[in-house]
Amino acid sequence: MNIWVYVDHFQGKALPSSWEAIGAARSLGAEVKALVLGDQVADLAQEAIAHGADEVLLAQDPALKDYRPEPYAATLAKMAAEGPQAIFFPTTTRGRELAGMVAMDLNTGVLVDVISLEAEGDQLTAVRPIYAGKLLQKVVCHARPQIITLRGRAFPKPEADASRSGAITEVEAVTEAPTQVEGYEVAEEGVSLTDAGVIVSGGRGTSNNPDLTPPDGMSDEEAEIWRAQQGFRLIGELAGVLGGAVGASRAAVDAGYIPYSHQVGQTGKVVSPDLYIACGISGAIQHLAGMRNSKIIVAINKDPDAPIFKVARYGVVGDLFEIVPALTEAFKNKLGK
Ligand SMILES: Cc1cc2nc3c(=O)[nH]c(=O)nc-3n(C[C@H](O)[C@H](O)[C@H](O)COP(=O)(O)OP(=O)(O)OC[C@H]3O[C@@H](n4cnc5c(N)ncnc54)[C@H](O)[C@@H]3O)c2cc1C
Repeated sequence: MNIWVYVDHFQGKALPSSWEAIGAARSLGAEVKALVLGDQVADLAQEAIAHGADEVLLAQDPALKDYRPEPYAATLAKMAAEGPQAIFFPTTTRGRELAGMVAMDLNTGVLVDVISLEAEGDQLTAVRPIYAGKLLQKVVCHARPQIITLRGRAFPKPEADASRSGAITEVEAVTEAPTQVEGYEVAEEGVSLTDAGVIVSGGRGTSNNPDLTPPDGMSDEEAEIWRAQQGFRLIGELAGVLGGAVGASRAAVDAGYIPYSHQVGQTGKVVSPDLYIACGISGAIQHLAGMRNSKIIVAINKDPDAPIFKVARYGVVGDLFEIVPALTEAFKNKLGK
């Protein structure tokens, strides 16, 4: 079987889920062609080979320097005229967008956010969570190519092997685009939630510490946000010691405690870290939809009946303002930080 894998990257830096997608294709016994688009991204082509691609189709053009869906999708659709049996994309924002556009261009179907795959001949059967992760759906695409986006961290990332070699074929890019990127502004530094191995998340409970006295002159709403910021500072310290990212519930985001980019759940990010620590989060179904596939879930909550404890491997009934700093200290000592 011939599987092509789109290598998602930002300015030449690949997302780890691109390598996971190459690993997933190889695990099915397929010949893997990586698709690398951009400007001056020949190094990325070599990296794709090191991570398991047998061959690379490389489209380089100054017009592809900044990701824009139209020329990228048109270039991919042009490449795919060769007729692969399947094309994998990582389930990133760009990957989802491109998968949909390429599927439209090629008049085929797209299976999104897949967490496991089986092959029989050239027919792939994909498994994807539905109904907020309560059901796993088995689904096939009868049209060709089968376009599939793979959930980040659902498939193992192959180790890079610099001794691997493979052909790199240059392909002419489609460059017409109705839009132009004028510039970038870094909104936030830090570990990306979807790639993080460890996530420490905070909910509405982060604002619940009556012992904290806000500065004079704050309204009730400002005082609540100020308290929550103290809670999230503690959460950030724990995440920092563990080399992880900070997540949040929607209640925390809606209340203005932390920006939306941290939201985990049905209407936020879907994550599957090795360790997810939920602090002051009740465990509503919409939150679980975003994190129930985490390998180990730890819940810290004052309420012993909070639903989050039903999905947690380890639960601590207590006040996050006491438990989180104690955990940070313990991990600092243990990890020698
Ligand atoms: C269409 C739709 C989409 C949604 N999408 C999402 C989504 O993507 N993500 C999401 O998270 N939610 C989502 N929600 C909202 C969801 O239903 C819940 O309202 C939300 O998850 C609750 O957030 P929370 O657990 O932080 O707050 P609460 O439910 O208010 O829970 C706070 C918890 O903190 C505990 N607590 C309080 N003080 C402390 C303390 N000091 N120490 C320890 N524990 C403490 C309490 O016991 C309680 O369990 C969605 C809802 C709808 C309708």
